[in-house]
Amino acid sequence: MGRLFGTSGIRGMVNVDLKPELALDLGLSLATHVENSGLIVLGKDPRTSSDMLEGSLVSGLLSGGCDVKKIGVAPTPAVSFAVPHLCAKAGIMITASHNPPEYNGIKLFGNDGMAFTPDQEEKIEEIYFSGRTRAAPWDRIGEAGDANILPEYIKKIASSVSLSRGYKVVVDCACGAGALATPFIMRELGCKVIALNSQLDGFFPGRAPEPTPENLQELGKIVKSLGADVGLAHDGDADRIAAVDEKGRVVGWDKLLALMAAHAVERNKGKAVTTVDASMIVDELVTSAGGKVVRTRVGDVAVAQAVKANQAVFGGEPSGAWIFPEVHLCPDGPLAGAKIIEMIDEAAKPLSNLADGIPEYPIVRAKVRCPNARKATVMKKVAARVKRAFYGVGEVLTIDGVRLTLEDGAWVLIRPSGTEPYIRITSEAKSVERANALVKDAKKLIGR
Ligand code: MG
Repeated sequence: MGRLFGTSGIRGMVNVDLKPELALDLGLSLATHVENSGLIVLGKDPRTSSDMLEGSLVSGLLSGGCDVKKIGVAPTPAVSFAVPHLCAKAGIMITASHNPPEYNGIKLFGNDGMAFTPDQEEKIEEIYFSGRTRAAPWDRIGEAGDANILPEYIKKIASSVSLSRGYKVVVDCACGAGALATPFIMRELGCKVIALNSQLDGFFPGRAPEPTPENLQELGKIVKSLGADVGLAHDGDADRIAAVDEKGRVVGWDKLLALMAAHAVERNKGKAVTTVDASMIVDELVTSAGGKVVRTRVGDVAVAQAVKANQAVFGGEPSGAWIFPEVHLCPDGPLAGAKIIEMIDEAAKPLSNLADGIPEYPIVRAKVRCPNARKATVMKKVAARVKRAFYGVGEVLTIDGVRLTLEDGAWVLIRPSGTEPYIRITSEAKSVERANALVKDAKKLIGR
């Protein structure tokens, strides 16, 4: 059977891989999947192709007998929020997240507002590829209408955080969907907001939509020159967050993740979920805050599933996609931004102090060539022999590649590349010598 969905929904180059016909058939497939029809919420980011895909999806959904509420341009987490809020059966977000403007994508959400799991996606693929779609008779075709969910979403997020005073915040939305939420939420929280790249523009003229340190240099300069307390940045659909401290420096994603996981554990007592590739500083901070770390596969859906299964109080990836389950099970950039300010407020310290108080351990990366066809066999043998190769000590985790954690917290992750003929090795330790030695041993193991 063919595949539509990748690690984060459907993604592709517009009018090349991702054509209106695909969106039309997907809409009809989803409508076929949703029993007894029902309401579907549909949102989009401001890409030049989003209206085109919206038109096709609406058409497919209506023809399958579903009603559609279009919420227009909105952050991905606002679509997630809208699904249970409007008692919808499912949600659809049209976005390619941080990808360049010539891409777009489609992400589906279940009736609880959580992104579709791989199992749910497979059911849609079955219908789509088998052509077993079901069009409604003329008198049961659905109805489409608009819904303005943003004021309620903004109210919900702002009411989830409380601050003892206002802060000066620079927000850089990359001209993406976050511009319609984050500046307003910060204002609602009593902050003084300076909004950069906050006009919607599908060409992303201000900066590339991925909030990497290179793309946030301008934000850093502005934060420093305006004497702001913090700079916040999103990707194109605002499910992710990055932060700049008051000195204008981008805070490393691992540090920010560790700080936030510990903050959530301190407030709500419980477990924090993160992925196998996140730094050991997450364990150090969460443990000293009295919590426990649960590791899961890479990807925001895996994190959401693990948060749900473990009843965790927080889930986050080092890419800045964070879940606060007291609000919902969707990575939420505007909420994450508000939580960063709440953390600064509670600590009564500038963000630079918080970040500089965390050790920075060296991470070493390497790769070993391995043909795609042999990856599975090699990984199986690596899993079986890893313990012996590392002198029989440590804890082995095989949920996503093979991760070995040693007693001092140092770890090595061996994971096949999803797209290239390589097996990748990542290692983190308190000294670069030790990290290098772990990578060397892992290379030897893969070589055998
Ligand atoms: Mg995104």
